[in-house]
Amino acid sequence: REALNTHLRDQGLFFPIDPGANASLGGMTATRASGTNAVRYGTMKDNVLAVEVVMADGTVIRTGARARKSSAGYDLTRLMVGSEGTLGVITEITLKLQGIPEAISSARCSFPSVEAACETVQSVIQYGLPVARIELLDAMVVRAVNAYAKLSLPETPMLLLEFHGSDAGVVEQTETFAALADENGGTDYQATTTMEERNKLWQARHDAYWAMLALRPGCKAVATDVCVPISRLAEAVGRANAKAAELGLIAPIVGHAGDGNFHASLLLDMDDADEVARAEDFISWLNELAISMEGTCTGEHGIGQGKRPYLVKELGAAVGVMGAIKQALDPDNIMNPGKILPESLA
Ligand SMILES: Cc1cc2nc3c(=O)[nH]c(=O)nc-3n(C[C@H](O)[C@H](O)[C@H](O)COP(=O)(O)OP(=O)(O)OC[C@H]3O[C@@H](n4cnc5c(N)ncnc54)[C@H](O)[C@@H]3O)c2cc1C
Repeated sequence: REALNTHLRDQGLFFPIDPGANASLGGMTATRASGTNAVRYGTMKDNVLAVEVVMADGTVIRTGARARKSSAGYDLTRLMVGSEGTLGVITEITLKLQGIPEAISSARCSFPSVEAACETVQSVIQYGLPVARIELLDAMVVRAVNAYAKLSLPETPMLLLEFHGSDAGVVEQTETFAALADENGGTDYQATTTMEERNKLWQARHDAYWAMLALRPGCKAVATDVCVPISRLAEAVGRANAKAAELGLIAPIVGHAGDGNFHASLLLDMDDADEVARAEDFISWLNELAISMEGTCTGEHGIGQGKRPYLVKELGAAVGVMGAIKQALDPDNIMNPGKILPESLA
């Protein structure tokens, strides 16, 4: 992914999907990844036009062409994007690229509570403000980032934003955001167009994972990945914070708030069996909360092995159809056996 963007830079183009790690494009396609830019540019499902796939029987197929749209038969591109290697091996990917915007502005704003921050996100989306990024950091993450990156951000929940557009357009966007934030008690609002300042702000976000790990040296971080309708985000994040505290767990939260997707990262002492059991309870509770809110147990990381029990809870009989597709395309179950589908179908 990073190599692609380095290659594209002098052509005025970029590929917007940016999962935290320098993932491979094949892995990102296979997991239907997204990241901080998805609120504006979509996820891998929106940015892959076609794939070449080696199927289980050795057939090589191409699922589409370079046209921006197509009505040609079943949408096998969408079937392969997010199939986590269970249907075939992706060997070539045709991607949609974006023009590097004329102007980019970044901003941060602090809030008295995660609910106030999330309600601002909801206003932003309802208003139709075309934010490129709108990321939530809860108070614990801000504290971690301050310590890790030697910053002095106010240690309350914070939104980190980026606006893309023309020079005049980004100014208008930052002003509109400021007004929406103000209505929800936002304070310490700071916007900047200088590259150095922007990079500093976003570096803090990208280092959040390492900063959180440093909160508890020697711990292991286990990330959750629920995604809920934006209208339920404030409630979901608030309840997740409260539940973690009730269970005596350290679980800082970062979120791709514009998509309703957030990660509570459980910082665990894996030698403490009781703590690990409480963490399992939390993960199960959170996945079920998201599903009960008409959301999903995984916004961008995929089902893998760990979330298989929740797939049926989330999609019911549709999982049987997935099993039928798997059986038809990979009858000997040689493609990533044990992933996505529940035990009975894998
Ligand atoms: C610190 C950190 C932050 C992250 N933040 C985000 C984030 O913000 N957003 C997000 O979406 N994700 C995030 N992730 C997860 C990351 O996006 C995924 O791990 C990544 O998309 C997978 O790419 P990979 O190259 O690492 O694939 P791998 O981990 O190697 O593989 C992932 C899965 O895809 C399959 N696969 C890989 N290549 C192919 C192929 N060519 N054909 C078929 N199947 C294949 C593998 O078998 C496996 O099942 C984060 C991960 C880390 C460690």
